[in-house]
Amino acid sequence: MSAAVRVAVLGAAGRMGRAIVRTLSETEGANLAAAVDRPGGPVLGQDAGALAGIAPLGIAVGGAPPEPGVADVWIDFSSAAATVANAQAASAAGAGLVVGTTGLAPDDRATLDRASHKIPVVLAPNMSVGVNLLLKLVADAARALGPDYDLEIVETHHRHKRDAPSGTALRLAEALCEATGRDLGTAARYERHGDIGPRTAQEIGVQTLRGGDVVGDHTVFFLGQGERIEITHRASSRDTFARGAVRAALWLAQRGPGLYDMRDVLRLK
Ligand code: NAD
Repeated sequence: MSAAVRVAVLGAAGRMGRAIVRTLSETEGANLAAAVDRPGGPVLGQDAGALAGIAPLGIAVGGAPPEPGVADVWIDFSSAAATVANAQAASAAGAGLVVGTTGLAPDDRATLDRASHKIPVVLAPNMSVGVNLLLKLVADAARALGPDYDLEIVETHHRHKRDAPSGTALRLAEALCEATGRDLGTAARYERHGDIGPRTAQEIGVQTLRGGDVVGDHTVFFLGQGERIEITHRASSRDTFARGAVRAALWLAQRGPGLYDMRDVLRLK
């Protein structure tokens, strides 16, 4: 039997980090090897298991990325600024990297791309099976329905979410653009206000709602003459993302350098 995959969680004290620590404790073949949060943060030194609401795991939350050799795969759900530095450290340590953090700028993605020449990296703004299937469904629908249907996306998240629109909404818009030969930079319409005139056929509206404790809802609208289709995904628990992240970590442990996404992990390509 092969040895368990040793996993480090970066952003271990966050909403997602704690869910991943809980999921790891229930997963055969994977162990928590290190837990990291913001340098100088209030939780440093606390037991990662206790922080996640489970039995103590004997792993204290540290304030710096793990030393080389401590973990086979690092899972990062921190913040865009931290992820870039973490990717450089993972590359130097020769560890695989799963990035769930959203709000990454093009330069940040370029850093991940460079890291992926040396280590395997899974980058996905949404790790749930359902959303990754949704990416495929909406692309198929856009191709089948053609240019007579207007494409719009609405996303809703909890009041604490920092980036807007969500990484998932942007990924859905990207999938629609790929399917219909549009460019996201010119097609995406993030705001409508005032005397905006008629809608153009090329635009894809991407609208954001924020409030309460919503884990993550996404609806893609296909609006035609006399009918509309709405395809919705609703996440009711962060566990779905945590399970996807751990699944990606196990998958990654068997891979060579490269930049992958969840559709590779789930064989949806
Ligand atoms: P959160 O604010 O609850 O947690 C982020 C954690 O990262 C905090 O504990 C923070 O202290 C920590 N952090 C900050 N700087 C750090 C550093 N340098 N090193 C290590 N840790 C550091 O946020 P969250 O709701 O857990 O979300 C985290 C990220 O994951 C966001 O970008 C969010 O959009 C994204 N997310 C992705 C998915 C997905 O499936 N890919 C799902 C949900 C959330």
